[in-house]
Amino acid sequence: MQVEKDCGGYVLVVDDEGELAEMMGAWVRSTGYEVVVKEDPREALLAVKQKKLEGVHLCAVLSDYNMPNMMGSELIDGILAESPGTKVAFVTGSNGQLLEDFAAKHQVLVIEKPDIFQPVIRFVEELRRNCKGV
Ligand SMILES: [Zn+2]
Repeated sequence: MQVEKDCGGYVLVVDDEGELAEMMGAWVRSTGYEVVVKEDPREALLAVKQKKLEGVHLCAVLSDYNMPNMMGSELIDGILAESPGTKVAFVTGSNGQLLEDFAAKHQVLVIEKPDIFQPVIRFVEELRRNCKGV
């Protein structure tokens, strides 16, 4: 895949299924992005705060919704507080009103498992065209 001018940021991938998280991380990495993969949403939020201190901007988040320790919605609330305007997609087998309402309110794309490869790649390619690096 052709790597265009890099905005210098990274993509965060969060899923409590470690193998799936690593696989998604590899897909995103193959498009040329820096990737941080976390299985625990609490660690993911800490990583976002740490990167912000280092001055590295967060381009986007691909996150599971239903996770132990912290729901995806809570994670995204925390991330958007640190980094408003970050593009977010839930990659999830969950559905329901709470998920839909949250997604609509925060303009979160919902990618439904299990057929996630194409939508994830599309999401990242769109990001590459639109990320202004702030
Ligand atoms: Zn970026």
